Parts: sequence; structure tokens; C-alpha cells
Amino acid sequence: MVKEICVVNARVLTMDAEDRVVQAFRSVDGVLVDVGTDQEVLDAADPDAEVIDAKGATVIPGLIDAHSHIEMLAYAWELAADVRASRVSSIDELVHVLRLRADGTPDGEWVMGHGQHFQDALFAEGRFPDRHDLDRVSTRHPVMYRSSFHTNIFNSAALELMGVTAATEDAPGGRIERDDDGEPTGRTFDMFAAIGGPQAPVEVLADAVDRVQDMYLAVGVTGLGEISLLSHGLDAMLALAKRGDLKLRTTSYATFPNVVSEDTVTSGALAAKFDGIDEERLKLGGVKLFLDGGLTSLAAALNEDYPGKPGYRGELAYDHDELCRWVQSVSDLGLQIAIHAIGDRALDQALDAIEATGEVTRTRRHRIEHAGNLWMTPERISRLAELGVVPVPQPAFILTTALGYRRHLGDRIGDLMPFRSLIDAGLALVGNSDAIGITADQHDPFPAIQAAITRHTHAGEPVDPHQAVTLMESLGMYTRDAAYAVHREHELGSLEPGKRADFVVIDEDLLTIDPEEIGAIRPRETWIDGDRVFVRDELPRS
Ligand SMILES: [Zn+2]
Repeated sequence: MVKEICVVNARVLTMDAEDRVVQAFRSVDGVLVDVGTDQEVLDAADPDAEVIDAKGATVIPGLIDAHSHIEMLAYAWELAADVRASRVSSIDELVHVLRLRADGTPDGEWVMGHGQHFQDALFAEGRFPDRHDLDRVSTRHPVMYRSSFHTNIFNSAALELMGVTAATEDAPGGRIERDDDGEPTGRTFDMFAAIGGPQAPVEVLADAVDRVQDMYLAVGVTGLGEISLLSHGLDAMLALAKRGDLKLRTTSYATFPNVVSEDTVTSGALAAKFDGIDEERLKLGGVKLFLDGGLTSLAAALNEDYPGKPGYRGELAYDHDELCRWVQSVSDLGLQIAIHAIGDRALDQALDAIEATGEVTRTRRHRIEHAGNLWMTPERISRLAELGVVPVPQPAFILTTALGYRRHLGDRIGDLMPFRSLIDAGLALVGNSDAIGITADQHDPFPAIQAAITRHTHAGEPVDPHQAVTLMESLGMYTRDAAYAVHREHELGSLEPGKRADFVVIDEDLLTIDPEEIGAIRPRETWIDGDRVFVRDELPRS
């Protein structure tokens, strides 16, 4: 049976090329057919069409989080014990919370705790736990405490289970911390995949991702560019899609080397995993690799020394030829490469490699993850534009970490999140969260949309306000530009005939609201394919 809906009496921000605002639209079987006035839409409708009176609400296209880690949110919010600083203030309390978890866990099974970045500074002891602390949780269970994707700490049973001993070597770019006798302390940095860190069984992870996707729908997100960091993360998305439970339209990026080997990519085995899956729901976007690490862990590759570290500039994970080979082979497969590049030296090398592959780059829309946050000189901006590269900066960092970068590195980083300059150069800026579950609303696009307009931190400090963008530009980052970044602008990102009926209903008038209040917006309804997939209940929020 044909399913036809008409949404009328709305303020529809179509996000089309002219930024048109209309009253109404109509969709048939999940595809928009008319956009216009109430009268035009109702006149064209079938008598049996369902008419939805929006009662003057604002309707926007479904939002897209183009650099997501729903896999990590599933661990943080569903599978692991919550040991963030909001719950534990000391290592003793951490041990207590994890011991409660161990008590309810069969012997031999993993006990995981999910904390937050730089939590060493937040524990009363002023340090990270080590294996001996975590041995107080249990000697009968392998125990892991995760501070970030990069920092994972294990108890003795876990180290034994994974076979990590004094003889285990550090993987390239990773480090096993050792005590004076050379024994592992339990603290590991960027070693998780190399030592075989724990992953939930695929079906368990898929169920957790299924629950987390409802949290995304509740904040108006209908699409993801999901960067799978671990192998089960990709398999869980495939499993969810196969069983018909994946609601979010997901474009998938598999991380090398944790999720895929070079051979898996070049042989076509990665693409073959997506055979038979409805592309509308889940499709392969490309491959992600880390060219350097984070700034705060001093792992980003810089052109000049780190402050206070004469001679130290961080490391690149690949040389120019290796990176060119990757860009070329991913391009040859018709896929995107998503290069994580934080430091200016990494950015330059990523641009050099993409330039070396020539003309095909523009059509592939290769991505540089975190480009557009820092180090954006006029020269780099014009290189990004000329090469057709998609910069993927994190607008939410304006609220939290941006000013810290300048305090740490000084003026050489240039303007923070210079979105005005990037948009003026013709670049499509891509909305995304990079959320891994540090806070309960880290995946929510509305605070980030606000920040790109107001340029204020959470505390109200200004962050290079001359780089502010307009509401339409900021919302555009999470709609049409994000759709472009995942090669889906023909079906997503705006409300126009021929595109999917994915949309969000909000009570506030986005065109007149004080921008400082955008972050608090809670969508009333979220729709995918002309189906209502989320309704906020009428109860006041606690
Ligand atoms: Zn990320």
C-alpha cells in the first residue's frame, strides 16, 4: 500500500540551495514529491493521504552526524560501568564501582569501566589507576578501565588473558607502560587492538547500538558517518542492518589497521561485507586512518617544537609514499579516505598525498578529520578548496577545548575553528560530534549548531567571534554539507522533491530564536522515510 503523508501548517526550513522556507510538503513512500504552500500540497494530495498539522512548528531536515562513534557510545552508555568523574572522584571509588559490577558478572568474563579523557587529573590521587589498583576489583575477572579510546588500563588477570608480559613489544605508535623491573603497569596507550583488547560479542554490541540509536533520534539525528574503531563495531552495524533494526542512515568508514587490513580493503573483501544490504540504510563510505595522534597527548605531528619540549614535534604514522599508496588505492576502489590529521605537519602531509593522486580526488571528496579546527592559514584553506577535500572540524570544541589549544600552543595555531574563512573559500564544512560518550549529550548537534553561531564557550568566553557563521550556514553543516560529505546529497540533507522524508519537528522558531538558546532545543518528533521514529513524551523533563 502506498503511504502518503502531508505535513502542513509548518515553518519548513528546506535547506535547499536558496534557503527557502515553505509551509508544507508531501511524501509518497518516504520520498518527497511536493514542497510549497499548504494549499498547493493539499491540492495535489490523494484523498487518503495522512495530513499532519504541525501547528506552526519548525521542520528541518534530519540532522547528520558525519563523524560518529555510535560503537563507543554503546560501550560508554550501555555496556560498561559508568566511572566518569561525575560518579567517582578517586581511584578507591572507581574500584568500588567496578567491584559491584564484578559481583554481578560470571567469573572469567570482562568487567569494563568507561571513564573520561584526562581523568588522571580528576582522581583524588592525581594519577591513573594501575594493574594493582584494578586487581583490588577482582582477581577472578579480567578488568579494563578506559579513559579514552587511546588510554586503556588492565588488571593482572586481563594482562594474563591477553598474553601481555614484559616481553610484549610496543606496537608502532603505541606504548605499554612498564615499571622499573620492565613489567607492564597495566596502563596502555594506543595498544588496544594490538594486544587484543576486549570487545563485546557482535550481537550484544548490536543490541546496545540499537538502544543508543534512539538517543540519536531524540536529538534529531537521522544519519551517521560512522567511523568504526574496532572490528565488532563494523560487524554490529552490518548485523543491525541485516536484521532490519538499523534506523539511522549510516555511511560506514572502517579504520585501518584495527578494523580492516590493507588486503581486506584492496581485495574487495571489505566492500563484499556490504553485499545484499539496503544501501539506503547502510553503505560503505571508505577507510579511515590515523596520520598522527592528539594534541593534548603530545602525539599530533607539528611543524615546530611543542612548547617546553625542545626538539620534539610529534610523529607521523606514515611517510609520504605510504600515504600516497593508501589514497591511491582507496580512490581506485571508488571510496573515500578519511585521514585523521591534527597537527599542522600531518595536515600538510595529508594535503600533499591527496594532491599527488591528481584529478580523481575531487570526485572522491576525500576527508581530513579535524581539519578546520586549527592551523588554517590562507594557503592551507586554498589547498583544501582546490583539491576538493572535505574538512571535518568539530564545532562543539568551541564550547569546551578550543581556548585551551591557544593557551597551550599560542598564536601559531591561527584562528580557532575559522568557519567563516572556510565557508567563504567555498568549502563544505561538515557537522559532526566525534562523540565517544564522555557526557550524556555529547552526541547532541544543537549545542554545536549554537556554538558555530555565537562563538562562546560554555562559560561564555568569546572564541574568535569574527569567525561566526549564520544560522543557515551552521544548520547547513549538519544537513546539506554533511550529506555531501557522505556522498548522499542526492537523497538527504534538504527537504526537496526526490529526497527522503527524513525530518525533525521542533517547537522553537529557529529563524527568530536567540542563538544562545539553540543548544537547549529538544526536538518534538523525528521522522525517517515518512515514518515517525521518535516522539518526545509530554511529561516535563526531570
Ligand atoms: Zn573520531
